Amino acid sequence: MSIPFRLSALRTISGFQTVSYEAATVLAGMLPEDILAKEMEKIYMARKATGDAVSMDVIRRRNGEINFHLTQIFTGHGGYRKYLHRLSQEDSPECPNCPNLDENPERVLYQCSRYREVVGSVPPPEGVVAFMLEEEE
Ligand SMILES: [Zn+2]
Repeated sequence: MSIPFRLSALRTISGFQTVSYEAATVLAGMLPEDILAKEMEKIYMARKATGDAVSMDVIRRRNGEINFHLTQIFTGHGGYRKYLHRLSQEDSPECPNCPNLDENPERVLYQCSRYREVVGSVPPPEGVVAFMLEEEE
């Protein structure tokens, strides 16, 4: 893993520095470098053998959306007490509204009444990936 490649993925997803290389590249729609190198080798060999041009687009996600907020949901690295407590930025990982339960993305988005009005129209848990991969209109 090269540092510029990781930073590029983190910048693309607006992710925190603590997000793993693998998570950052997947969310950014970037193939990890080792896989990308193998794909490029296959493309090169195919081009060499057939003379056909193979677009890099076939190995890249061209639609869908990732942003600062979705990155926090997928990685759990964000303004959640569980994460902030791990970094010693909060005294407790617990949700202030849900005794003995950690405040994490799932709790904030789907379980805690404290955030119900703020969160509004969040896709259901099983629909978040589909939302991310929606076609452009
Ligand atoms: Zn709560």
